Amino acid sequence: MVGLDGKECKLILVLNCGSSSLKYDVIRMPHRQSLGKGLVERIGEEKGMLEQKAGEKKLLIEQHISDHKEALELVVRALTDTDEGLISSIDEIAGIGHRVVHGGDKYASSVTIDEDVIAAIEEFVELAPLHNPPNLAGIRVAREVLPKVPQVAVFDTAFHQTMPPHAYLYGLPRKFYDEFKIRRYGFHGTSHRFVSARALQLCRRHPTNTNLISCHLGNGASITAIAHGRSIDTSMGFTPLEGLIMGTRSGDLDPAIFAYLIDRGYTSKELINILNKKSGLLGLSGISNDLRDLESEAENGNQLAKEALNAYAYRVRKYIGAYAANLVKVDMLVFTGGIGQNGWRMRERICHRLENLGICMDFRLNKEKGCKEGVVSEAYSPVTIVVIPTNEELQIAIDVYELAFGGDDEYRRRSSDHLVGFEE
Ligand code: ADP
Repeated sequence: MVGLDGKECKLILVLNCGSSSLKYDVIRMPHRQSLGKGLVERIGEEKGMLEQKAGEKKLLIEQHISDHKEALELVVRALTDTDEGLISSIDEIAGIGHRVVHGGDKYASSVTIDEDVIAAIEEFVELAPLHNPPNLAGIRVAREVLPKVPQVAVFDTAFHQTMPPHAYLYGLPRKFYDEFKIRRYGFHGTSHRFVSARALQLCRRHPTNTNLISCHLGNGASITAIAHGRSIDTSMGFTPLEGLIMGTRSGDLDPAIFAYLIDRGYTSKELINILNKKSGLLGLSGISNDLRDLESEAENGNQLAKEALNAYAYRVRKYIGAYAANLVKVDMLVFTGGIGQNGWRMRERICHRLENLGICMDFRLNKEKGCKEGVVSEAYSPVTIVVIPTNEELQIAIDVYELAFGGDDEYRRRSSDHLVGFEE
């Protein structure tokens, strides 16, 4: 297939399967251009729905969707729809990339899927019981529906596999690590990898002499310390519950609280549900997990909203401080995710006490930039603060293109471009 610029191109289908949903995106490589994306929701429920968008084109299908196989068949129908479709034949799809949450300690990078990879993802179901099963379902049906197309797994945990033992070990009896694989794994790796590479590219820096702290602040939130292009520590741990205060997740806690509440009649199932779904900004404020709601409540003088926002910012600052201590020198601080990218006030709240670390925000520029990509620090700031919109789907497509088609030499040659990976 040849693109408009006469360059050979491949269309990559990126799939992200949840328990009752399937998100997809079709990306033209090496042009890094999305042709359109869609979402299938309420798989297995009485009434399912597919919504596909490509510029002005919109397609909505409402019908019962019994399982992921039917969902993918519906995606194929939508992609090739005569009026609102994105491609004329499904044979145009040259590769498929699957977002997979947990690759355990086995995968430090993306891999082409074969029977061994499927068996490994299956093995890691016990570490990610909510996420790996639907990810696997997506892989299985994609192999069934498009058997000839190469498929690649891109793991949320892979980027963090470079963490040294002193960062990934918990202070527990060794047998918990040896027998149950309890250690820090970290998540959001694809996003941290994408935004850190993009930040380097934007500021024309090379990973070998740049240390970064990357803050992915969305509904889920994590922060990663990156040296020489490699994750050396990250705030999410054995599960995505550890670390920052999030939309509905508690983040760090004294583990004794769990036992204390069990003694008071809560079951562990109830507590895990509370810690994942009813805590964080929502739990603290009692109002909402949405930053915009809390910002406007705080402006109207709501004390609980103010406290929730301050606790959120304080926790992020605490991690930045801890990571700055371990990185020794920090060159860049990156903000991404729904809150990191759009929430300029939250960025301000986080940075206004970090000048002692050389993190000097240009508050006017930070407000002006809003959600746009760019630098928001003072020219004299030792640490460059940047806002980068994340694009995990694109990173997945880049990985598929690299693994299945050998990548693109032109992109690789351009020394300021590190998106294809951190070659040294
Ligand atoms: P997820 O982790 O579910 O992908 P997102 O990255 O979309 O979440 O982030 C969701 C968060 O982003 C919400 O708390 C929302 O309030 C916040 N957000 C989105 N848009 C804005 C905005 N314009 N201003 C402030 N916060 C925003």
